Amino acid sequence: MHKDPDCIFCKIIEGTIPSYKIFEDDNLVSFMDINPFEKGHVLVVPKHHAATIGELPEEVLVQLAKAVQKIAVRLKERLGCSGLNVLQNNGASAGQTVPHVHVHLIPRYEGKPLRFQSGEYGSDEEMKTFYEKLR
Ligand code: AMP
Ligand code: ZN
Repeated sequence: MHKDPDCIFCKIIEGTIPSYKIFEDDNLVSFMDINPFEKGHVLVVPKHHAATIGELPEEVLVQLAKAVQKIAVRLKERLGCSGLNVLQNNGASAGQTVPHVHVHLIPRYEGKPLRFQSGEYGSDEEMKTFYEKLR
């Protein structure tokens, strides 16, 4: 399994940096985010070191998706959150600060303010250009 000795999440996986681990198996670990967006914010992290989602082996990706579902259900059952965001950042421009793939699970609670930014809407022409590139 690929590791990076300088990576903070590899160090958490190795146990050389402490964390509040809520789940661990042979392939993944999940621990409390040190700077939570909301109470109960956790990260789900493959033990295999890769910076971004495109570099993950397919089998690891499947394991990650399964663990995200399992822990999402656990958050709902045990924290009583009414909603939950699944967030995964790739690259500095997307807000990624730790270059080891991780999925954020952010519980959301009734009555708490929630803001998402939008506004980069272009013309229909521009929409079609992206559509042609992506389909
Ligand atoms: P991202 O911006 O998607 O790369 O997210 C990195 C996340 O890792 C941030 O939400 C940080 O609060 C969290 N983080 C960084 N260092 C630690 C740590 N030692 N233990 C737990 N969470 C951490
Ligand atoms: Zn790593």
